[in-house]
Amino acid sequence: MSNLDLRPAPTVCGGRADVTARPVRDLLAAKPVMLGESTEVRRLLPSMGRRMVGAWCFVDHYGPDDIEREPGMQVPPHPHIGLQTVSWLHDGEVLHRDSLGSEQVLRPRELGLMTSGRAIAHAEQSPREHAKLLHGAQLWVALPDAHRHTAPSWEHHAELPQVSGGGGLSATVILGDLDGARSPGTTFTPLMGADITLAAGTDTRLPLQPDFEYAALTMSGEAEVDGVRLAPGSLLYLGCGRRELPLRATVDSAFMLLGGEPFEERIVMWWNFVGRTHEDIAQAREDWVSGTRFGEVSPYEGAPLPAPELPPVPLKARGRTR
Ligand code: MN
Repeated sequence: MSNLDLRPAPTVCGGRADVTARPVRDLLAAKPVMLGESTEVRRLLPSMGRRMVGAWCFVDHYGPDDIEREPGMQVPPHPHIGLQTVSWLHDGEVLHRDSLGSEQVLRPRELGLMTSGRAIAHAEQSPREHAKLLHGAQLWVALPDAHRHTAPSWEHHAELPQVSGGGGLSATVILGDLDGARSPGTTFTPLMGADITLAAGTDTRLPLQPDFEYAALTMSGEAEVDGVRLAPGSLLYLGCGRRELPLRATVDSAFMLLGGEPFEERIVMWWNFVGRTHEDIAQAREDWVSGTRFGEVSPYEGAPLPAPELPPVPLKARGRTR
């Protein structure tokens, strides 16, 4: 997925200043954003209250939308640098195509993991023949400086480790590890992501790493996370310093748990790019406009996404600001 804002605001983030060292329960408000003409998403990161959770730096939640008579998701070819994209579905399917020649239909609870490294372009579309409902999340992970110029790659993992926590909890490990089970997805910083299902009547505790910060993105039902009952499409920031997370549900519920070691490096995010300086971002934009560096998404019917104008003030990685 892409940031389709016509006037994307630069986001400066990273560093320890904004990390909450103790457990908190900070509910972040979603911002509705139109993705193309037909899909509205809820942007939960970056938000007014928080920019990152570990290396997770971008979270959109969408659906469930009835797209039976709609084109569904239609995101034309667009570029990325300095990040990984994580595509995760609960309903429907998304056709991914990228400038490496990858072509993959993603289905619910399969991991689509794209490492942009120095440069990649991709398109994401609902296939012409698609399911009635589309429901999922699109997330980005910032790459650390040592790996942000790495070669681009695409990974599709249809088989992911399952964790049965007992007491009505079951989980799919998306990235990193949870309770001893490890995802095959490539990571570059200590982080984790899991899809957690709570059956009606669940009352349990999930082991966590105290040096990670965590957040819960609710997908369906009404999960009660550390005593906070959450409607779908909410992001609850949980802070650091937790060894376990109390979980309850009175109806069948699902949420994504995102966590990671607080990201020490300062980064600049603008449009679909993660860099360290204004020059990184301006050069990437220039290379997209001139048709170099990113390669072509082929076949694709239609025009690639045009780059928005850079803001008039230089982008600066000044620290974590709200
Ligand atoms: Mn994208």
